[in-house]
Amino acid sequence: MTMINGKTEFLGLLGNPVKHSLSPVMHNAALAEMNMNWCYIAMPCETNNLKTVLKGLSALNFQGLNVTIPHKNTITKFCDELTPLAQRLGAVNTLVLNKSHGWIGSNTDVEGFLAPLKSKNYAWDNRKAMVLGCGGSARAVLTGLKELGIAEITVIGRNKQRLNTFIKEMNQILTDFPKESKSIAIKGILETDLELIEKIKQIDLFVNATPIGMENDTEKPKPTLKIPLGKEIWKHLNSHSILYDLIYNPRPTEWLKWGKEQGCECIDGLEMLVQQGAASLKIWSRKTEIPIEVMRIAAKTALLN
Ligand code: NAP
Repeated sequence: MTMINGKTEFLGLLGNPVKHSLSPVMHNAALAEMNMNWCYIAMPCETNNLKTVLKGLSALNFQGLNVTIPHKNTITKFCDELTPLAQRLGAVNTLVLNKSHGWIGSNTDVEGFLAPLKSKNYAWDNRKAMVLGCGGSARAVLTGLKELGIAEITVIGRNKQRLNTFIKEMNQILTDFPKESKSIAIKGILETDLELIEKIKQIDLFVNATPIGMENDTEKPKPTLKIPLGKEIWKHLNSHSILYDLIYNPRPTEWLKWGKEQGCECIDGLEMLVQQGAASLKIWSRKTEIPIEVMRIAAKTALLN
């Protein structure tokens, strides 16, 4: 990294907690490669302080911010402008200052999620996808799947009310979005539903958007599962299905290890992390060339340490 001096400009991450984030190593490696005298720091922030902190960081002329758990939704209220995608999703992960020093909120999670799928050059039209979980990241996942041209999405939840609310909201959000995308059927199914086995047999792409299998799963009492839905049910999977786990620590998760043994193509969450970060850096730096490989290596190295 360039030595911090009087001319150094700042970028940062707001979340709680932020100690385990890979974003500072990824971004600082990229900034050094780009020869920019900028520095990216992680800043723990309580929800109650979010508005004040944003004002302060604008006054300090921060060049840009990332936002992570638990602020992605709350922060939309404190942005002066939102991009159409951030507005639709009700979630922001990237902020940049506008000319009047107000914050523009955008969302690069969809782009990050899609990058490893688009690089596959696979015919996604008319394919069926299943998403495990209906939390924050599942919103970006469903939006990405619609952009990809997927014909049908089944979302698995464990709580009927939360699942139904999610399906209703996503149907509203995605009715005519993204522009010119084909219509899509979005359905919910409970993890205890007996129809699940038949469904699983027909699916081309599975996405795990739950923390099951994650190194630091905070579920209380202790998490009981290491593989989403338990190992037994995955025997009904066909070997040409693709498994995509948003988790990047551990790499691979137990679910992906098992999938690989069955001959399935497996994608872990590291590339999504790297690509959403690269998309943010593109916005802040206004440069078209971002050293993605440098970011990838920095993130992989940090995970090993
Ligand atoms: P979230 O908003 O908390 O949502 C988690 C979802 O998982 C909820 O629907 C929750 O169900 C469900 N869930 C949690 N534990 C479960 C269990 N034991 N059994 C069944 N369902 C369970 O979290 P998120 O922000 O969407 O993140 C989900 C995962 O994606 C995390 O592991 C996160 O690290 C990862 N992620 C990765 C990236 C990346 O760049 N690679 C980006 C974003 C997120 P309830 O609603 O019933 O609680």
